[in-house]
Amino acid sequence: TKHEDFVLAVEGLTVSFDGFKAVNDLSFYVDEGEIRVIIGPNGAGKTTVLDLICGRTQATSGSIKFRGEELTRMKEHQIVHHGVGRKFQNPSIYDDLSVFENLEISYPRGRSVFGSLMFKRDREVIEEVENIAEIIFLQNDLDKPAGLLSHGQKQWLEIGMLLIQKPDLLMLDEPVAGMSVAERKKTAELLNRITQGRSVIVIEHDMQFVEDIAHRVTVMHQGKVLSEGSMERVKNDPKVIEVYLGH
Ligand code: ADP
Repeated sequence: TKHEDFVLAVEGLTVSFDGFKAVNDLSFYVDEGEIRVIIGPNGAGKTTVLDLICGRTQATSGSIKFRGEELTRMKEHQIVHHGVGRKFQNPSIYDDLSVFENLEISYPRGRSVFGSLMFKRDREVIEEVENIAEIIFLQNDLDKPAGLLSHGQKQWLEIGMLLIQKPDLLMLDEPVAGMSVAERKKTAELLNRITQGRSVIVIEHDMQFVEDIAHRVTVMHQGKVLSEGSMERVKNDPKVIEVYLGH
């Protein structure tokens, strides 16, 4: 594939913090429909890459093109409007609101029309909330206060709150941290359900989960790409083995 055909093209991306290059001339390309997992030792620069893509951190140099548009100089809210959704490690749901209401307030029209909780609950919104609730395994918990959900369910709800905004690129930082084995399996199933017309980037340490979801893996080390390809390929790459065993 030519690089222009990729949905996300990161090229020569560099950011220096007081002269230290946390991300150093990094290039990678993500396809539509792809789940890309970024792995690498602590401090490799993985979180910083997501911060750069979502506009939380400004690049020192390089470019981030998403669906042909240059994101590099855009503000965080503009990048959201261009269809990029990011989930952080700690859930930012409203504990006192029900699952339904948490999804409802995340529906893009809700905010623009009457403000957060004061908009018409039309058929379209209800259907979309129910549709998302099913994808995130919460169709039977719509009336439950979000604060009463399990840790794993809270993570899924937050993913649902992003999905209802229909992002073309969804970025997740360690989505299964703290989850049970069963919840991890279901999260893999969830992610495999949502790739149509969309790209997903996941930072992850749990190698079983990586095997379950990754179409391709990018291994980062010291701000650079150390290895890339199928899980099978990267896990047999001597450079990768050396970095992991050396730690
Ligand atoms: P990873 O997610 O792979 O563990 P990070 O992206 O969090 O790595 O961090 C990469 C390096 O950049 C680390 O050495 C970290 O201390 C440094 N770093 C990240 N953000 C900042 C910042 N805002 N200011 C200074 N140093 C930072």
